[in-house]
Amino acid sequence: MTTGTVTGSADIADLYRDLHQHPELSFAETRTSGIVAARMRAAGFETTEGVGRTGVVGVLRNGPGPTVLLRADMDALPMEERTGLPYASRARGIDRDGNDVPVAHSCGHDVHVTCLIGAARALAQDRSWQGTVLVVFQPAEEFGQGAQAMVDDGLYDRFGRPEVVLGQHVAPFPAGHLAVRPGPAFAAADAVRVVLHGRGGHGSRPETTVDPVVMAAATVLRLQTIVSREIAGTDTAVVTVGALRAGTKENIIPEDAELLISIRTFEPEVRRRTLDAIERIVRAEATASGADRDPTITLLHGFPAVVNEPGAVARTRPAFEALVGPGRVFEPGPVTGSEDVGLLATAADAPCVFWLLGGADPAQFADARSAEAMMARVAELPSNHSPLFAPVIEPTLTTGVGALVAAARTWLHAEAGQLSKSRS
Ligand SMILES: [Zn+2]
Ligand SMILES: [Zn+2]
Repeated sequence: MTTGTVTGSADIADLYRDLHQHPELSFAETRTSGIVAARMRAAGFETTEGVGRTGVVGVLRNGPGPTVLLRADMDALPMEERTGLPYASRARGIDRDGNDVPVAHSCGHDVHVTCLIGAARALAQDRSWQGTVLVVFQPAEEFGQGAQAMVDDGLYDRFGRPEVVLGQHVAPFPAGHLAVRPGPAFAAADAVRVVLHGRGGHGSRPETTVDPVVMAAATVLRLQTIVSREIAGTDTAVVTVGALRAGTKENIIPEDAELLISIRTFEPEVRRRTLDAIERIVRAEATASGADRDPTITLLHGFPAVVNEPGAVARTRPAFEALVGPGRVFEPGPVTGSEDVGLLATAADAPCVFWLLGGADPAQFADARSAEAMMARVAELPSNHSPLFAPVIEPTLTTGVGALVAAARTWLHAEAGQLSKSRS
């Protein structure tokens, strides 16, 4: 691998393919953070590793002026990649339950890391700006814990408080396009684990048991009524039971059943109502089943919606339009996917601008002439977290590097010489 002063897109593409082939699970991003740290040091950043376990922070001071935070997340997912790409991942890792699992960059965080390294290097090489660039390579976004871990490890006390938090996420719309939405952009995400306690026994003698399988089945169905019957038609919520586990054999009624539930909302009031309703229904179904013990309900993680500060979006968007052309920057609908980048902004009491970076092959959109046709095509393509998710390398990486640089320069002060030059 090359390091140092090479800035060509070929070098960036090589870096991307390398990261893509070597994905690492949340809080296990040791190889990735080692590469990141070496690249940041080579670019001239004061670099600190091990912030929030596996996070990396780079600081580049260039005179008086604002501090601008640029963020990339580094972790991959416990799933098998089936893209068939020559650089597809065949990596494996150990998940948080201790299982040996395939690992893939199916959310595209390798794109984010590559683009931020490219942008940091570009900002270091052309210092016609004043202020401080703070680059944050965050672990464990997929757990919803990495941003908080870095804040808890003194991110802002040790490295300074930024005036703005900037970042991007790759998505399956045409590469060369950017999308940014003022207001709520990504949903709040909560993960809840429920254990329903029954009373086990022989499958032939249900009258001597409290069957947690039936309790779980009734609970899953009743949970579906939260969104359909308790949330207003004008509000948005998603309640997904992503895992349902109970039992080992057909003639044993088990002791317990476990549910893992994902909740997405945009408004704090809707979030509170949804979480309250889940607890109420779980407890009521246990009572209805005659359970001897109350169910165990655990919030595994929860983080708030990502809200893009409208004034900050208005300030940043023209830079994107100058980069890719005004027709290639659009305002998407709110995304029910979630991101913990918002925590970095709230912890710094700074505005957040978090945008989407097109990563799909533009050739797939050749006949999609209207915005509607484009969105219809987006819906057909593999999304993030699909085993087939495969961002095209270019123009995705060049656009992602450019967007980070352009956004950062919007918030940094123009260097005096540069300012007078541009005014003459
Ligand atoms: Zn993801
Ligand atoms: Zn992601």
